Amino acid sequence: ETILDIKNVKKHYKMGNVTVEALKGVDVCLKDKEFVSVIGPSGCGKSTLLNLIGCLDSPTEGSISINGTDVSKMSEKQLTDIRCKNVGYIFQKFYLLPFLTALENVELQARLAGMKDSKKKAEEALKLVGLGDRMNHLPKELSGGQQQRVAIARAIVKDPKLLLADEPTGNLDTAMGAQIMDVLRSLNEKGLTILMVTHNPELAAMTDRVIKVRDGRIDLN
Ligand code: ADP
Ligand code: ADP
Repeated sequence: ETILDIKNVKKHYKMGNVTVEALKGVDVCLKDKEFVSVIGPSGCGKSTLLNLIGCLDSPTEGSISINGTDVSKMSEKQLTDIRCKNVGYIFQKFYLLPFLTALENVELQARLAGMKDSKKKAEEALKLVGLGDRMNHLPKELSGGQQQRVAIARAIVKDPKLLLADEPTGNLDTAMGAQIMDVLRSLNEKGLTILMVTHNPELAAMTDRVIKVRDGRIDLN
């Protein structure tokens, strides 16, 4: 039932003589099928937290368990493996390959993950985000909101347990941002667990639960 269990996680960045304590002892628990937001001011540690959960980096102290596996002391190679199998990631920027169509962008991800039927899986993912009629368009022929939906399709094509979203509407106007929230909610209703970082309280209020971060700690008030 518990998909993510974080206990007393600290993350320090050493920069010459200076140590930045980005996370100072954080506990987070996420149940299967929850849609949770992480909110807090710039520099409070949100991206650091998401990067640790996304297995892009390891904590200085504490434990992070994803789907029952403790990833906090894994090697780079093991982390890559866990990341490929369990975690999808979307960002403020879309990072689509400009010379590939929507379908090719998503299919490439499926192929890199060694999936069979990569084209069929990519088509299914694009239909899930409402882009069934835009599959052969290049990124520049799509609106910002549509490009972010391609990025979402790419993140979910491997059928990950957990979707991490770092300011997914940060580059979009309000209407397109609302579209993206609708897509995330519909994927959540189909069973995907989502953790979304935002500094927009209105978007956070649309999720099941809000985790507030302040100065490297969870703010329980
Ligand atoms: P947020 O996402 O809430 O804006 P971050 O997690 O990006 O916060 O940053 C938290 C703190 O850690 C900030 O003081 C930031 O400058 C610092 N920080 C983040 N990443 C690094 C890094 N790779 N190296 C050094 N300092 C970093
Ligand atoms: P946001 O607040 O929108 O999340 P940030 O500017 O905090 O964006 O950070 C974007 C990425 O850059 C983060 O994932 C973090 O790892 C990295 N970063 C942030 N601050 C620093 C820093 N001082 N030095 C190196 N990398 C950083």
